[in-house]
Amino acid sequence: MTVYLVGAGPGDPGLLTMRAHELIAAADVILHDRLIPAGALDHARPDAEVFDVGKQGGGPQVPQEETERLLLEHGATGRMVVRLKGGDPFVFGRGGEEALALREAGIPFEVVPGITAGIAAPAYAGIPVTQRDVASAVAFITGHEDPAKPESALDWPALAAFPGTLVFYMGVKALPRIAEQLLAGGRPPYEPVAVVERGTLADQRTTLGTLVTIAAKAAGARAPAITLVGPVAGLRERIAWLEARPLFGLTVAVTRARAQASALAARLRELGATVVEAPAIRVRPLDAELPDPQGYDLLCVTSPNGAERLFDHLRDARSLAGVTVAAIGPGTARALRARGVEPDVVPERAVAEGLVEALADVRVERALVTRAAEGRDVLPDALRERGAVVDVVALYETVAEPLDEDTRVAAAAADYVLFTSASSVRFFAAAGGSLSGPRLVSIGPATSDELRAHGAEPAIEADPHTPDGLIAVVLTHARESGPQGGSSP
Ligand code: SAH
Repeated sequence: MTVYLVGAGPGDPGLLTMRAHELIAAADVILHDRLIPAGALDHARPDAEVFDVGKQGGGPQVPQEETERLLLEHGATGRMVVRLKGGDPFVFGRGGEEALALREAGIPFEVVPGITAGIAAPAYAGIPVTQRDVASAVAFITGHEDPAKPESALDWPALAAFPGTLVFYMGVKALPRIAEQLLAGGRPPYEPVAVVERGTLADQRTTLGTLVTIAAKAAGARAPAITLVGPVAGLRERIAWLEARPLFGLTVAVTRARAQASALAARLRELGATVVEAPAIRVRPLDAELPDPQGYDLLCVTSPNGAERLFDHLRDARSLAGVTVAAIGPGTARALRARGVEPDVVPERAVAEGLVEALADVRVERALVTRAAEGRDVLPDALRERGAVVDVVALYETVAEPLDEDTRVAAAAADYVLFTSASSVRFFAAAGGSLSGPRLVSIGPATSDELRAHGAEPAIEADPHTPDGLIAVVLTHARESGPQGGSSP
C-alpha cells in the first residue's frame, strides 16, 4: 500500500481533483490540515481513521514532527494513508519534507497536486497571474510574518526587481513590510496590489490598492489571505466575475432532503449564493406491496421520489405497457423519463389539483396512485368522485432529520429559506428551525398554507411550483432588492 500526499485545493469543494476524491473514498487513514474544503471527507469510508493534524483539540497546529510520525507509523502498517493538505502539497505545504521522510523510511508514496491558493484566489478575484505584455513571470513567495524576526530569509531587493507578478502566501500582518520593502527596492508606488481573503470560499473578499495604500486599506483582512503585487491586479476591474453573479453575497438555506437538495444547491451556488443545506427531512422507503399496474388503466406518480421508488417495486417494465401514466409535475416527469417511461399526462400546474384538471378528459375506471405515506387525498378523492376505483400505495415516507446547532444558526441568518414541500416546513419547524423574518420562500400553495399554519407568512411563493420556479422568484426578488453586500471591484 501507499501513502498519498494529496492537495485538497484552495477551499471551494468543486476544486478538489477527481483523484483526490477517489483516494479519500478509499483511504484507511486520513491525516488532514485545517484548510480543507467543506465536505471533502463526506465520502470517506465510515470506518476510516481520520486525524485533524491542523489543530490539537481545537488548539494550535499539531507539530510537524508529530504529523510526520503519524504518517510513517500508519504508512508502515501497509494501510492506505491519505495526507490531505490545503492547496497543493508541494507549494508551501511541507509536502516535500514528508516525501523525503517517507522515502527514507522506504514507504512508497504518490503525490497528487492540488490547485494552489496563489493561482486560485487571484483567479476567483478576476486576476490572471500572467498576462501577455503585462506579466510573463510569476513568483510564489512566503516568509516570516513577524517583522521583529531579525533576519528574514527573503531577498527583498531581488523580489523588488523581479520582472513579473509577486504572489505572497503571507498573512496581512506582513502587508506593511511587504509594501515597504518593495517600495524601497524600487517598485513603483502606484503598482496595483490585491489582497484576496478566503479565496474561492463563499465569503471571499478582495481589496484592491497600490503599494502605497494597500497596508491601510486591507488592515482588517482575515486569514487566510493572498497578497498579489503586479500590474495584472489592475485587470480585476474588468475581469471580476464572482461579484457579478446575481446571488453573490446572499445566503440561501435549502430545507429539502439531502438526496434531493444537491441539484438545487448546485444551481444556487452557480448563481453566486452561499448555500446552507438544512435538510430537516429524509426519505425512507416503505416496505410496500405494489399491485400489478396491468390491473389499472391509470397510474399516478406524485413526486420524483415516488417515481424512483416505483421502479424499486416494479419487477418488469413491461407491466406498465398500455397503462396511462400521469406525473404531477416536471420533476416527476423527468424522474420517469430517466427510467425510460414517457408520462402521458403532465399538468401545467404542478399540484394535485392541477393533475385532477389535466385528467378531466381521461377515461379512468381503475387508478393506482403511488405516493408518500403522508400525501394529500385531493387526487384519489377526485378520481373516486368520478366513479373510479382508486388504490393508493405509499411507497415511502418522509421522516424528521435532526438539525445541528450550527446549521440552525446558519439557516436563521440566511437571506432566504427555501421550502419545497409542506413536510419540509413541518419538520424544519419541529427541528427548531427559525421561521421568522421576511425571507421565507415557498414552492406553492400547500407549502405556503403549512407556513401559515405555523404562524409564518411566506415572503414569496414560486410560480411555477417547481424548484426552477423557486430559483426564478429568488432571482427576481434579489434583483428588486438591489445589489448585495459584496464590495465593488
Ligand atoms: N499548500 C497551500 C499553501 C499553504 S501556506 C497552497 O498550495 O495553497 C498557507 C497560506 O496559503 C496562507 O497563509 C495563505 O496565504 C494561503 N492560502 C491558503 N488558502 C487560501 C485561500 N483560500 N485564500 C487565500 N489564501 C490562502
